[in-house]
Amino acid sequence: MSYTFQAKETVSLLKQLVEIPSPSGYTKEIMDFMERILKELNVSYIRTNKGALIATIKGTDDTKHRLLTAHTDTLGAMVKEVKASGRLKLAMVGGFNWNAVEGEYCTIHTASGKKIRGTILMHQTTVHVYKNASSLPRDEQNIEVRVDEKVTDADGTRELGIEVGDFVSFDPRFEETETGFIKSRHLDDKASTALLLQLIKAVQENNWTLPYTTHFYISNNEEIGFGGNSNIPEQTVEYIAVDMGAIGDGQTSDEYTVSICAKDSSGPYHYELTRQLVELAKEENIEYKLDIYPFYGSDASAAIRAGFDVKHALFGPGIEASHAYERTHIESLENTAKLLYAYVNSKMV
Ligand SMILES: [Zn+2]
Repeated sequence: MSYTFQAKETVSLLKQLVEIPSPSGYTKEIMDFMERILKELNVSYIRTNKGALIATIKGTDDTKHRLLTAHTDTLGAMVKEVKASGRLKLAMVGGFNWNAVEGEYCTIHTASGKKIRGTILMHQTTVHVYKNASSLPRDEQNIEVRVDEKVTDADGTRELGIEVGDFVSFDPRFEETETGFIKSRHLDDKASTALLLQLIKAVQENNWTLPYTTHFYISNNEEIGFGGNSNIPEQTVEYIAVDMGAIGDGQTSDEYTVSICAKDSSGPYHYELTRQLVELAKEENIEYKLDIYPFYGSDASAAIRAGFDVKHALFGPGIEASHAYERTHIESLENTAKLLYAYVNSKMV
């Protein structure tokens, strides 16, 4: 069996994924979309009570299983308060800095299913009125949503159907450049999700037989720490989180290679399994970087914390400016896809 990376198809799927709003806790639409794709691919799956999907492809050896996960949930916010002005205070969903969404267009998802547009702004944005706008803290007090409706008070906003507890999603602003960059919010972790779907598709369409039964766990609660930490089949020996590589000062990861994580805030990943990934990358001439992520946890570490007896590892595309307006390059997606393919076809060590 030979494998060709489908760049166009992967990027177009990724665009579709980032454009479906899915802050953690509000993932029904994206998971319904994922379920439709799995159905089309004729792969067996379950949907958990928490809303995740676990697709399973039976392998030659059905006694030892592998599991790969990527997550579809993203950062977002919730309406914390309807202000007297009719604007909204927000509570964060997931971890980010408010300045990363300042000026971003957003959608408020009301309980009745209405989508109302708005913009996330500092209360004191207007420089012609507020002298100290640039130095004020970007925090829950000063950040607000300007709702794109003719409202001037809290009652007016409430009449639109907006209430405390409504989810707010940020526009992804997806763009693919001629130079091969993909710029968008939520590449974490929809880039990896697209790669996992493409892998399932390749296995199904080519009738490949994998050496071990392999589960593809599409998680929907990673950003809040409890995504892929339940419903792990008991035969699972290896658990791989496919999630973003962290780029910055002192990091080896970049936007062109696949980043293999040796350790993050949760501790070291399984040493031998991580070494195996590095060896596979070397053998297959896959461009990779081995790295440590200082402020990071994954669904694999969440599974370990939850008490599952699995060997865990983490790799994925390098994502620049993570949890903000993110960017990666098609080469990083290709290298990650190649490592995924090499891994699911390798022998367990
Ligand atoms: Zn992630």
